[in-house]
Amino acid sequence: MNQGTIKEKVLFEGIGIHSGEYSRIVLHPEEENTGIRFLRWGVYIPAKPEFVVNTDHSTDLGKEGVFVKTVEHLMAVLYMLGVDNITVEFLEGFEVPILDGSGYYFYKALKDKVVSLSVPAPILEISSSFEVRNSVGYIKALPYEGFSVAYMGSIKGFFEERLVEFRGNIRDVVFARTFCYDYELEHLLKKGLAKGGSLKNALLLGMGFVYNEGGMRSEDEPLRHKLLDLIGDLALVGKRIKGRIVSYKGGHTLNYLFVKVLSSISETSLASSSVSTP
Ligand code: ZN
Repeated sequence: MNQGTIKEKVLFEGIGIHSGEYSRIVLHPEEENTGIRFLRWGVYIPAKPEFVVNTDHSTDLGKEGVFVKTVEHLMAVLYMLGVDNITVEFLEGFEVPILDGSGYYFYKALKDKVVSLSVPAPILEISSSFEVRNSVGYIKALPYEGFSVAYMGSIKGFFEERLVEFRGNIRDVVFARTFCYDYELEHLLKKGLAKGGSLKNALLLGMGFVYNEGGMRSEDEPLRHKLLDLIGDLALVGKRIKGRIVSYKGGHTLNYLFVKVLSSISETSLASSSVSTP
Protein backbone atom coordinates (compact mmCIF):
# COMPACT_ATOMS: atom_id res chain seq x y z
CA MET A 1 0.00 0.00 0.00
CA ASN A 2 1.28 3.44 -0.91
CA GLN A 3 1.52 6.54 1.27
CA GLY A 4 -1.38 8.96 1.13
CA THR A 5 -2.18 12.62 1.53
CA ILE A 6 -5.23 14.77 0.74
CA LYS A 7 -5.86 16.46 -2.58
CA GLU A 8 -6.70 19.90 -1.21
CA LYS A 9 -6.79 21.97 1.97
CA VAL A 10 -9.52 21.19 4.49
CA LEU A 11 -10.63 23.48 7.33
CA PHE A 12 -12.15 22.53 10.67
CA GLU A 13 -13.30 24.88 13.39
CA GLY A 14 -14.99 24.73 16.74
CA ILE A 15 -14.28 24.63 20.44
CA GLY A 16 -11.82 22.35 22.17
CA ILE A 17 -13.39 20.00 24.71
CA HIS A 18 -10.83 20.65 27.45
CA SER A 19 -9.83 24.27 26.90
CA GLY A 20 -13.31 25.43 25.89
CA GLU A 21 -11.50 27.74 23.46
CA TYR A 22 -12.43 28.22 19.85
CA SER A 23 -9.91 26.99 17.30
CA ARG A 24 -9.50 26.88 13.56
CA ILE A 25 -7.22 24.36 11.85
CA VAL A 26 -6.30 23.84 8.21
CA LEU A 27 -5.06 20.50 6.91
CA HIS A 28 -2.53 20.95 4.10
CA PRO A 29 -1.54 18.25 1.59
CA GLU A 30 2.12 17.21 1.84
CA GLU A 31 4.49 15.15 -0.26
CA GLU A 32 5.71 11.65 0.57
CA ASN A 33 7.81 11.06 3.70
CA THR A 34 6.72 14.34 5.34
CA GLY A 35 4.68 12.47 7.95
CA ILE A 36 1.93 14.04 9.99
CA ARG A 37 2.91 17.24 11.73
CA PHE A 38 1.21 20.13 13.50
CA LEU A 39 2.10 23.76 12.90
CA ARG A 40 1.47 26.49 15.43
CA TRP A 41 3.24 29.82 15.89
CA GLY A 42 5.79 28.87 13.24
CA VAL A 43 6.85 25.66 15.01
CA TYR A 44 6.39 22.31 13.28
CA ILE A 45 5.55 19.61 15.82
CA PRO A 46 5.88 16.08 14.36
CA ALA A 47 3.15 13.65 15.42
CA LYS A 48 5.65 11.26 17.02
CA PRO A 49 5.94 9.74 20.48
CA GLU A 50 8.93 11.89 21.42
CA PHE A 51 6.78 15.02 21.16
CA VAL A 52 4.00 13.82 23.48
CA VAL A 53 3.79 16.23 26.43
CA ASN A 54 0.57 15.11 28.14
CA THR A 55 -1.65 12.02 28.25
CA ASP A 56 -4.11 13.01 30.99
CA HIS A 57 -7.57 12.76 29.36
CA SER A 58 -6.13 13.69 25.95
CA THR A 59 -2.96 13.26 23.93
CA ASP A 60 -1.09 16.55 23.55
CA LEU A 61 2.06 17.29 21.58
CA GLY A 62 4.64 20.00 22.08
CA LYS A 63 7.98 21.31 20.92
CA GLU A 64 10.04 24.35 21.86
CA GLY A 65 7.39 25.54 24.32
CA VAL A 66 4.59 25.41 21.74
CA PHE A 67 1.93 22.76 22.20
CA VAL A 68 -1.25 21.44 20.61
CA LYS A 69 -3.94 19.58 22.47
CA THR A 70 -6.30 16.61 21.94
CA VAL A 71 -4.89 15.30 18.67
CA GLU A 72 -6.13 11.71 19.00
CA HIS A 73 -9.48 11.70 17.19
CA LEU A 74 -8.09 13.47 14.14
CA MET A 75 -5.02 11.19 14.23
CA ALA A 76 -7.26 8.10 14.34
CA VAL A 77 -9.23 9.19 11.28
CA LEU A 78 -6.06 10.05 9.35
CA TYR A 79 -4.63 6.62 10.17
CA MET A 80 -7.76 4.76 9.18
CA LEU A 81 -8.07 6.70 5.92
CA GLY A 82 -4.42 6.04 5.03
CA VAL A 83 -3.30 9.69 5.24
CA ASP A 84 0.41 9.60 6.11
CA ASN A 85 1.51 13.07 5.03
CA ILE A 86 -0.21 16.24 6.15
CA THR A 87 0.39 19.48 8.00
CA VAL A 88 -2.28 20.51 10.50
CA GLU A 89 -1.91 24.26 10.85
CA PHE A 90 -3.51 26.11 13.76
CA LEU A 91 -4.83 29.46 12.56
CA GLU A 92 -6.46 30.11 15.90
CA GLY A 93 -6.47 28.34 19.27
CA PHE A 94 -4.39 25.34 20.29
CA GLU A 95 -6.79 22.42 20.76
CA VAL A 96 -8.13 20.31 17.90
CA PRO A 97 -11.88 21.08 17.64
CA ILE A 98 -13.94 18.40 19.35
CA LEU A 99 -16.84 18.75 16.85
CA ASP A 100 -19.43 16.15 17.92
CA GLY A 101 -16.96 14.29 20.17
CA SER A 102 -16.28 11.50 17.65
CA GLY A 103 -14.21 11.17 14.47
CA TYR A 104 -17.28 11.44 12.27
CA TYR A 105 -16.92 14.99 10.94
CA PHE A 106 -13.22 14.52 10.20
CA TYR A 107 -14.10 11.35 8.33
CA LYS A 108 -16.97 12.96 6.46
CA ALA A 109 -14.84 15.88 5.25
CA LEU A 110 -11.76 13.83 4.38
CA LYS A 111 -12.98 10.49 3.03
CA ASP A 112 -13.30 11.62 -0.60
CA LYS A 113 -10.14 13.73 -0.55
CA VAL A 114 -7.53 11.05 0.09
CA VAL A 115 -4.99 10.58 -2.71
CA SER A 116 -2.31 7.96 -3.08
CA LEU A 117 1.34 8.95 -3.56
CA SER A 118 3.88 6.95 -5.53
CA VAL A 119 5.93 5.70 -2.57
CA PRO A 120 5.07 2.68 -0.40
CA ALA A 121 3.99 3.37 3.19
CA PRO A 122 6.46 2.19 5.82
CA ILE A 123 5.26 -0.89 7.66
CA LEU A 124 5.91 -1.81 11.26
CA GLU A 125 5.53 -5.54 11.66
CA ILE A 126 4.98 -7.01 15.10
CA SER A 127 7.03 -10.18 14.73
CA SER A 128 6.92 -11.32 18.35
CA SER A 129 4.45 -10.62 21.12
CA PHE A 130 5.02 -8.20 24.00
CA GLU A 131 2.92 -6.25 26.45
CA VAL A 132 2.93 -3.16 28.62
CA ARG A 133 1.06 -2.90 31.92
CA ASN A 134 0.07 -0.43 34.57
CA SER A 135 -2.03 -0.75 37.71
CA VAL A 136 -5.25 -0.52 35.69
CA GLY A 137 -4.72 -2.71 32.67
CA TYR A 138 -2.46 -3.84 29.88
CA ILE A 139 -1.90 -3.63 26.15
CA LYS A 140 -0.62 -6.65 24.24
CA ALA A 141 0.93 -6.82 20.80
CA LEU A 142 0.67 -10.03 18.81
CA PRO A 143 1.86 -11.11 15.36
CA TYR A 144 -1.02 -11.05 12.89
CA GLU A 145 -1.51 -10.93 9.12
CA GLY A 146 -3.06 -7.49 8.80
CA PHE A 147 -4.09 -4.86 11.35
CA SER A 148 -6.56 -5.46 14.11
CA VAL A 149 -7.19 -3.66 17.37
CA ALA A 150 -9.35 -4.87 20.23
CA TYR A 151 -10.44 -3.15 23.42
CA MET A 152 -11.86 -4.84 26.46
CA GLY A 153 -13.48 -2.89 29.23
CA SER A 154 -16.70 -2.31 31.13
CA ILE A 155 -19.21 0.55 31.24
CA LYS A 156 -20.19 1.17 34.81
CA GLY A 157 -23.92 0.86 35.37
CA PHE A 158 -24.39 -0.80 31.98
CA PHE A 159 -22.34 -3.95 31.61
CA GLU A 160 -19.26 -5.77 32.78
CA GLU A 161 -16.36 -6.70 30.56
CA ARG A 162 -16.99 -6.74 26.87
CA LEU A 163 -14.73 -6.84 23.81
CA VAL A 164 -14.99 -4.51 20.81
CA GLU A 165 -12.82 -4.84 17.72
CA PHE A 166 -11.58 -2.88 14.75
CA ARG A 167 -10.58 -4.94 11.73
CA GLY A 168 -10.44 -2.25 9.09
CA ASN A 169 -14.01 -0.97 8.88
CA ILE A 170 -13.82 2.68 9.89
CA ARG A 171 -17.58 2.77 10.41
CA ASP A 172 -17.20 0.48 13.42
CA VAL A 173 -15.48 3.20 15.44
CA VAL A 174 -15.69 6.60 13.77
CA PHE A 175 -19.15 7.51 15.14
CA ALA A 176 -18.29 6.85 18.79
CA ARG A 177 -18.26 9.95 20.99
CA THR A 178 -16.03 10.79 23.90
CA PHE A 179 -17.72 10.15 27.22
CA CYS A 180 -17.65 10.96 30.89
CA TYR A 181 -19.45 9.69 33.97
CA ASP A 182 -21.49 12.29 35.84
CA TYR A 183 -19.57 11.74 39.09
CA GLU A 184 -16.27 12.56 37.31
CA LEU A 185 -17.34 15.97 36.06
CA GLU A 186 -16.56 18.01 39.15
CA HIS A 187 -13.08 16.52 39.40
CA LEU A 188 -12.37 17.19 35.71
CA LEU A 189 -13.54 20.79 35.94
CA LYS A 190 -11.40 21.30 39.05
CA LYS A 191 -8.40 20.13 37.05
CA GLY A 192 -9.24 22.71 34.39
CA LEU A 193 -10.39 20.01 31.96
CA ALA A 194 -13.66 19.48 30.07
CA LYS A 195 -14.36 23.23 30.04
CA GLY A 196 -15.75 22.93 26.51
CA GLY A 197 -17.65 19.73 27.22
CA SER A 198 -21.39 19.59 26.70
CA LEU A 199 -24.09 17.17 25.65
CA LYS A 200 -23.39 18.33 22.08
CA ASN A 201 -19.87 16.92 22.07
CA ALA A 202 -19.75 14.20 24.72
CA LEU A 203 -21.77 11.36 26.08
CA LEU A 204 -22.61 11.94 29.73
CA LEU A 205 -23.24 8.70 31.58
CA GLY A 206 -25.15 8.16 34.79
CA MET A 207 -25.48 4.78 36.51
CA GLY A 208 -27.39 2.85 33.90
CA PHE A 209 -28.67 5.86 31.99
CA VAL A 210 -27.48 8.49 29.52
CA TYR A 211 -28.13 12.23 29.89
CA ASN A 212 -27.96 12.88 26.14
CA GLU A 213 -31.20 12.97 24.26
CA GLY A 214 -31.25 9.99 21.93
CA GLY A 215 -28.99 7.92 24.17
CA MET A 216 -26.00 6.04 22.85
CA ARG A 217 -25.27 5.60 19.14
CA SER A 218 -24.53 1.94 19.85
CA GLU A 219 -24.92 0.07 23.11
CA ASP A 220 -21.13 -0.11 23.46
CA GLU A 221 -20.35 3.41 22.17
CA PRO A 222 -17.93 4.32 25.00
CA LEU A 223 -15.84 1.18 24.35
CA ARG A 224 -15.75 1.95 20.66
CA HIS A 225 -14.54 5.43 21.53
CA LYS A 226 -11.71 3.88 23.55
CA LEU A 227 -10.82 1.95 20.41
CA LEU A 228 -10.81 5.20 18.41
CA ASP A 229 -8.51 6.80 21.01
CA LEU A 230 -6.18 3.80 20.88
CA ILE A 231 -5.96 3.90 17.08
CA GLY A 232 -5.23 7.65 17.27
CA ASP A 233 -2.41 7.08 19.73
CA LEU A 234 -1.02 4.15 17.71
CA ALA A 235 -0.86 6.48 14.71
CA LEU A 236 2.01 8.26 16.45
CA VAL A 237 4.35 5.48 15.32
CA GLY A 238 4.09 6.98 11.83
CA LYS A 239 3.94 3.59 10.14
CA ARG A 240 1.25 1.14 9.09
CA ILE A 241 1.13 -1.47 11.79
CA LYS A 242 1.00 -5.13 10.86
CA GLY A 243 -0.13 -6.98 13.96
CA ARG A 244 -2.89 -7.42 16.48
CA ILE A 245 -3.17 -5.11 19.47
CA VAL A 246 -5.37 -5.90 22.45
CA SER A 247 -6.01 -3.35 25.18
CA TYR A 248 -7.50 -4.25 28.51
CA LYS A 249 -8.75 -1.03 30.12
CA GLY A 250 -5.98 1.05 28.58
CA GLY A 251 -6.19 4.84 28.35
CA HIS A 252 -3.97 7.50 26.79
CA THR A 253 -1.18 7.05 29.34
CA LEU A 254 -0.87 3.31 28.76
CA ASN A 255 -1.35 3.81 25.01
CA TYR A 256 1.59 6.20 25.06
CA LEU A 257 3.79 3.75 26.96
CA PHE A 258 2.86 1.07 24.43
CA VAL A 259 3.58 3.33 21.48
CA LYS A 260 7.02 4.18 22.85
CA VAL A 261 7.89 0.48 23.05
CA LEU A 262 6.38 -0.15 19.62
CA SER A 263 8.44 2.68 18.13
CA SER A 264 11.61 1.33 19.65
CA ILE A 265 11.06 -2.08 18.07
CA SER A 266 10.32 -0.49 14.74
CA GLU A 267 14.04 0.23 14.47
CA THR A 268 15.26 -3.16 15.67
CA SER A 269 13.48 -6.47 15.59
CA LEU A 270 13.08 -7.46 19.16
CA ALA A 271 12.77 -10.73 20.99
CA SER A 272 9.69 -11.26 23.14
CA SER A 273 9.70 -8.72 25.94
CA SER A 274 7.56 -7.29 28.65
CA VAL A 275 7.50 -3.82 30.14
CA SER A 276 5.87 -2.88 33.42
CA THR A 277 5.24 0.37 35.20
CA PRO A 278 4.12 0.77 38.80
ZN1 ZN B 1 -11.23 10.38 22.82
